[in-house]
Amino acid sequence: MTTMFLFANCAVLDAAQGRLLEGHHVLVEGNRIKEVSDRPLKATAARMIEGRGRTLMPGLCDAHVHVAAVSPDLAALTKWAPSYVTARTAEVLKGMLRRGFTTVRDAGGADYGLADAIAEGYLEGPRLLFSGPALSQTGGHGDQRGKGDNSTDYFCGCVGTLGRVCDGVDAVRRVARDELRKGATQIKIMASGGIASPTDHIANTQYSLEEITAIVEEATAARTYVMAHAYYPNAIRRAIECGVRSIEHGNFIDEPTARLMVQKQAFMVPTLSTYEALAREGVAMGFPPAFADKVQWVRGAALTGLETAHKAGVAIAYGTDLLGAMHRHQALEFTLRREVQTVAEVIQGATVNAAALFNRVGEVGVVAPGALADLLLVDGDPYRDITVLQRPEETFRVIMKDGAMVVDQA
Ligand SMILES: [Zn+2]
Repeated sequence: MTTMFLFANCAVLDAAQGRLLEGHHVLVEGNRIKEVSDRPLKATAARMIEGRGRTLMPGLCDAHVHVAAVSPDLAALTKWAPSYVTARTAEVLKGMLRRGFTTVRDAGGADYGLADAIAEGYLEGPRLLFSGPALSQTGGHGDQRGKGDNSTDYFCGCVGTLGRVCDGVDAVRRVARDELRKGATQIKIMASGGIASPTDHIANTQYSLEEITAIVEEATAARTYVMAHAYYPNAIRRAIECGVRSIEHGNFIDEPTARLMVQKQAFMVPTLSTYEALAREGVAMGFPPAFADKVQWVRGAALTGLETAHKAGVAIAYGTDLLGAMHRHQALEFTLRREVQTVAEVIQGATVNAAALFNRVGEVGVVAPGALADLLLVDGDPYRDITVLQRPEETFRVIMKDGAMVVDQA
């Protein structure tokens, strides 16, 4: 028999409009939302959950995570047994779901094995939209080798390696096809220098236009898209002009580049919380001290980048990019973004905007008939006090994913 739940008398959070719909009733049948109504619904077979005084909202989306980054020392991670990395990834996944994140997009490291294990119930975790390893050029952000290291470890893209090194149009095309063969829901590329890579500068551009174009072509052929790690305007502009759909980080974006992103209907996924967490406690948590200067370099620009993109009207999705034990700060992004965005806009980033970026409009990030039953029943009103989303153990009465109860304290 299909399981049914009836959430009665709730304030339903309408993320698109940025308001609560008081006194609503929501019927869940199987893994979908069947009905949303302002009049009482009858469903004798359903379990009734009283929602008076509570908010029923869509499960949250995080558009930039690395679930397999169980240590902030990414180079060390590649020497660990994949089975050990997987075991520790289970904790990260569980933590995310219990913070209310029911869909996450992995920006490098997760694979079909993890996604299948979650979908089949062997692991507790959010719905996982995985990229496989991120494609990186030699000496790029996905290449963890120091100057004296000539190993080929980074050419395979095994679990535990966040990047896969490949160069040249033919090679990047083959690797993109290979990751799509393994079920990648989107392709991630490193289009500029980054923090946790030993031999590149953050302002570097990476990959030739021909290489990026070839990767976009392959993703498009497979009816998906490319997300690109990029910090500076020239790297962002090159990626966008080649057809990349989302820019990850984007800290140093300028106005003309932001306008180009609007024109091309691209998304930006800032990741303020990782800089904050790395600056506060990164080294204590095992982040290599050699990269600490790079953290400071980008941290100061992160909020300005968000502000520039926001003012230009770029669609912005929620992202965190946390590593190791710092994953516990996943909800910190809500308050960091409040410096620039309204509460309603911040919540849109973690719901409707993320859904649009994922090509999952009407499926995730919304409480509506036909959507997947990813729901949070929350004590309080997130629009009045966004910190209710940062205290899940205290405020989340129900966490439901795919029509199944994860937390049931109704
Ligand atoms: Zn990342």
